[in-house]
Amino acid sequence: MQIIRSVKEMQQKMLKLGRENSVGFVATMGYFHEGHISLMEESIKENDITVTSVFVNPLQFGVNEDIERYPRNLENDKKAAEDMGVDILFVPEAIDMYPSKMTLEILTKERTDVLCGRSRPGHFEGVATVLIKLFNIVRPDKTYFGIKDAQQASIVEALINDLNFPIELVTLPIFREKDGLAKSSRNVNLTNQERQESVWLHKALEYGRQFVVDGELNPAMIVKEVKNLIHDRTSGTVDYVELLSYPELKPITETDNNIILAAAVHFSKARLIDNLIFDREGKLTS
Ligand code: AMP
Repeated sequence: MQIIRSVKEMQQKMLKLGRENSVGFVATMGYFHEGHISLMEESIKENDITVTSVFVNPLQFGVNEDIERYPRNLENDKKAAEDMGVDILFVPEAIDMYPSKMTLEILTKERTDVLCGRSRPGHFEGVATVLIKLFNIVRPDKTYFGIKDAQQASIVEALINDLNFPIELVTLPIFREKDGLAKSSRNVNLTNQERQESVWLHKALEYGRQFVVDGELNPAMIVKEVKNLIHDRTSGTVDYVELLSYPELKPITETDNNIILAAAVHFSKARLIDNLIFDREGKLTS
């Protein structure tokens, strides 16, 4: 596995490679767990070359957010990526990705006034900006994203369509711990007590989905029930619980057949997110 730190070197390497090798790309912020690995595995299966990036993008963190606390372990990540069979690990420095103040600004117009976009102003602009840069540097044929960050996947879909990137988006299901907690790099920042409580995030979403299975697709009621359950069973603070159409992320209408029930909860040192995506009968679709 080759490790590349320079943006210029990475871009030149991919330009030299030409188009006869198919390239799969997995963008990450590092501190790998099985969720990340599942994306790399799929990319390796489907492409000649797999590139994985590790970059904690400052642009997508707000002023009071956890960029300093964001866990990092590049040595472990290198080993995990190498063991998986990743061909190139791209680990740029922030100063190389953003050498000077940008002249252009990316604005998102749709899909960001809800969920994490509402609680984290500027977050998805930061995500979109870094992904446009990474797509231009790596020039992948396919890119792999987890449905764990369903709103992000929805923005990536829109970004690829709106800006005509010749890239196929592949989304993969949420990889969970045995007790249901969605794997996340941020889970290490939970206290033991919070780790035990955190299973209620997934359980509460499943409880909410059950109403739909039982034929009660009443968003306000379901949201209230899920919020109450998380509130009662954890010491965390509910940031949001929302039930929307997916991937449009609009209030559900009679015709929508793909629904997301998503939640975000603040614990003392970690903000966790989770979601379920299902049809009008409550059957899971991702
Ligand atoms: P991150 O390093 O958190 O930015 O995540 C990098 C990629 O891994 C994103 O596409 C995430 O959606 C995906 N990912 C993170 N956690 C999981 C998980 N538990 N299951 C599947 N994919 C995940």
